[in-house]
Amino acid sequence: MKVSLPDGNELELPDGASGADAARAIGEGLARAALAVKQDRVLRDLSAPLRPGARIEIVTPKSEEALELVRHDCAHVLATAVMELYPGVKISIGPPIEDGFYYDFDFPADVKLSDADFERIEQRMREHINAGEPFEREDVSVARALERFRDEGQDYKVELIEDLVRDADPAHPVETVSLYRNGPFTDLCRGPHAPSTKRIKAFKLTSVAGAYWRGDAQRQMLTRVYGTAFLSKEDLAEHLERLEQARLRDHRKLGRELDLFMFSELSPGSPFWQPAGSQIWNQLTDFWRVENASREYSEVRTPILYDAELWRQSGHWDVYRDNMYFTEVEGRSLGLKPMNCPAHIQIYNSERRSYRDLPIRYAEAGLVHRHEPSGTLHGLLRVRHITQDDAHIFCTEDQVKEEVQGCLDFGFFIYETFGFEPRLELSTRPEKRVGSDEMWDRAEGALEAALREKGLEFELNEGDGAFYGPKIDLHMTDSIGRSWQLGTVQLDYSMPERFGLVYAGDDNADHRPVMIHRALMGSFERFIGILIEHYAGEFPLWLAPVQAVVLPIADRHADYARSVAEELRRAGLRVQLDERTESIGKKIREAEVRKLPYMLVVGDKEAEAGEVSVRRHREGDLGTSSVADFVSRAGGEVADRSGWHDRNRGGHGC
Ligand SMILES: [Zn+2]
Ligand SMILES: [Zn+2]
Repeated sequence: MKVSLPDGNELELPDGASGADAARAIGEGLARAALAVKQDRVLRDLSAPLRPGARIEIVTPKSEEALELVRHDCAHVLATAVMELYPGVKISIGPPIEDGFYYDFDFPADVKLSDADFERIEQRMREHINAGEPFEREDVSVARALERFRDEGQDYKVELIEDLVRDADPAHPVETVSLYRNGPFTDLCRGPHAPSTKRIKAFKLTSVAGAYWRGDAQRQMLTRVYGTAFLSKEDLAEHLERLEQARLRDHRKLGRELDLFMFSELSPGSPFWQPAGSQIWNQLTDFWRVENASREYSEVRTPILYDAELWRQSGHWDVYRDNMYFTEVEGRSLGLKPMNCPAHIQIYNSERRSYRDLPIRYAEAGLVHRHEPSGTLHGLLRVRHITQDDAHIFCTEDQVKEEVQGCLDFGFFIYETFGFEPRLELSTRPEKRVGSDEMWDRAEGALEAALREKGLEFELNEGDGAFYGPKIDLHMTDSIGRSWQLGTVQLDYSMPERFGLVYAGDDNADHRPVMIHRALMGSFERFIGILIEHYAGEFPLWLAPVQAVVLPIADRHADYARSVAEELRRAGLRVQLDERTESIGKKIREAEVRKLPYMLVVGDKEAEAGEVSVRRHREGDLGTSSVADFVSRAGGEVADRSGWHDRNRGGHGC
């Protein structure tokens, strides 16, 4: 039989040959590296017989699919070890996930698993990996599989098989299921797997958590063990280092340590900004305001509480009501806005608009409330009280492309300011949508043209657009390589329709404007949370809550120190004075811990010469300078909003 290879060549193989045979026929090296085979794009075991005429590709550690494959292998090895070490444990499911894998177990009542048990489990896993146990697939009848798992008391597996049979399409009843065996362990599993446990080159168990069976709070609480696996020890070490960095940078931890913000059970999901955090907030809003104004956005302010009638008209009542907060006042039902768009529409509609007025760009640091279940709240990253850097552009269809490009340029400017790497995604028409196909053709065409004309690379997410229009999402990569979705630029043909928006064209007839929703930072809350982690709490000077601290060496320098602080304050810098009778070494160490950008040490020499001895956080001593020189140095740094990513261009892990 013949199969075809990715390079277009054909390979002649004996009938019944497997992926392993194909790899061997190509070369011994490939046969040794092979993990699995893709047959007509479907991933399969290396040992499975190939279909004559199939297009095949040998999967090796270099392939995109390799990580997921060995992580799935590793989940089985975890279950192998756990079953040996904890007799009576019941197993449920163990899939690969982003960054690793997990397995859910139902332990006997006397076992309370914690990370303290990981070493013992990992040791046992290592033994199974070193033994190089092959993964062997067996297709067995449903009856035999049920009997087997019933005998073993594996109720979860029994339930999974019963559901498979029950939920099957009647035209294709499930008659057999596949089992995978490695060493002493057998699991109900669709596969595929690598040829042997030996292919897991590096792994680690990372955490343990509770998880309901089938995610159903009415069912058993299981113990989920998370782990990760890699194809090399170096990759694992790098991953663990990133996790450690992320832990050190956790914005909730830094928020507490640096007194930036706090939460109270009295207002769940809504941050309270402490003085230092409010400083950052204000710097960021000033930045937002100035940059919007320079791009001819008009800032507006709108209420947060509206008659439910508005939410009926906007459609939120039908599709979004469960995520909104309602109250009743004087017999009227009022709802807190979850989005600013209907509010901006009121302003647009307050006057008769002409084509000469367009585009109209309204920007608002708009406060919206969205109900997020308490279990999903996460520091500043997931809150119920959300201040968006929102804007709505009302324009003619001809202006769409240019306006979208303007939004993208604005986005890039912001991300550049903070040192993020942008990545773009274009999402097109979903199955459930409003508007005609011609409308979607035009809208998608305009977005794509906006991207292509600027020579921008983007990923295409077909079918992922909003129901009212296509969108471009802006994702950022932060200083430790994590990706965040921050911005979005969305075309909307539906709301102008619902609210009857019009403008008078040059033909004097009424036309429908197009509406563009765009947010670039997303929300101030989440953006500051991300910034805290991105900068590891070491804010660039323009954002730093306290920019400099003056440190007198002895009590006799206090007067001079006070005058220095006063001069800096008059120059517009945010300054503190540390007058405590502590050693200068201790004061410097504490300022370093608080991540204060500049420490200005003053003693006899400085007082006499009217100078300060300048230290920069992390960088140490920068020598002495006059107070005026320091002011101009710091002022310049604030003015051009430079941050550590500018000072450390060229790979600094921080
Ligand atoms: Zn499996
Ligand atoms: Zn909007």
